[in-house]
Amino acid sequence: MQPRGLSLAWLTLPLLVQAAPDGSWCYDSQNPQCGPSHWKDLAHPCGGLAQSPIDIDRRQVKLDLSLGPFVFEGYDSAPPGPWRLLNDGHTVLLNLEGAQGRGRGQLCIQGGGLPHIYCALQLHFHWGSPKGNGSEHTLDGQRQPMEMHVVHMNTLYQSLAEARGHPGGLAVLAFLFKVQNEDNANYATIVSGLRNISHQGQSVELASTFRLDQLLPGPDLLSRYYRYPGSLTTPSCDEVVLWTVFEEPVPIGKSQLAQFVSTLQASAPGTRTVNMIDNFRPAQPIGARRVLASWDATVSGAPAFSLPAKAWALACLLLSSGPAL
Ligand SMILES: [Zn+2]
Repeated sequence: MQPRGLSLAWLTLPLLVQAAPDGSWCYDSQNPQCGPSHWKDLAHPCGGLAQSPIDIDRRQVKLDLSLGPFVFEGYDSAPPGPWRLLNDGHTVLLNLEGAQGRGRGQLCIQGGGLPHIYCALQLHFHWGSPKGNGSEHTLDGQRQPMEMHVVHMNTLYQSLAEARGHPGGLAVLAFLFKVQNEDNANYATIVSGLRNISHQGQSVELASTFRLDQLLPGPDLLSRYYRYPGSLTTPSCDEVVLWTVFEEPVPIGKSQLAQFVSTLQASAPGTRTVNMIDNFRPAQPIGARRVLASWDATVSGAPAFSLPAKAWALACLLLSSGPAL
């Protein structure tokens, strides 16, 4: 993920990772000399023990009954905007704060086992190449076609810089994609904007905003997710992120995915063409961490997470819901 979203952060964050001789980090597809294996030389946290992304091995996840449903605020109406789509040289990023900043039109989440209310800064994507998939998180060792990160900041903090200094300062919702033959009309606005931002540094104001929940799986499927503590998946790799990886993939059309893979360049106008492909970080060691599964997410393999355990969990939830049920 990339933390940029606050307008101030757009100006300041790149300065924090300019330790490399050429002043930047990249993916191997751009230049192996500044790819992920070198990031720890640019930013010390990138070599830490709680990095992201990871493989989510569903034989090893632990059921956690406290991981209930999310409450999404503002996701069900088009915010006043405007929204700007940006090619920042590493990804395509949609600023979700809008012209009015914090307040009206804000998109926020709570519940879902999160300790506080978190509000959205931006969303962006990671994808592969014509040869392979490009999600960051893998599921049972399988890389998926694409991944979207919706980056939220803890409302305890006033700025991204402050949030990046505290564990739990950020909460990122990660959505994996599956490819289908038909286009997903809900992604038409974003996909049609790609051709206007083919080069690094280019941005376009979308004609309108839209309901953000249209980009997500159906509401009845959003209670199935995995949770673990991790990091930003790009330098500075701060270990301050509560990750939520949803189990249900988002469908995207084959030709729509191809637009991400073929339209975008990591290079600026007038410079040597560098295709923006394979912009994902490889899976990092999980170490001592344990991935938790929400009460109705799929768990597999271990006897402790068998069907009776799930039935027991469901019974507990129903009883705690009160007499209305
Ligand atoms: Zn990301």
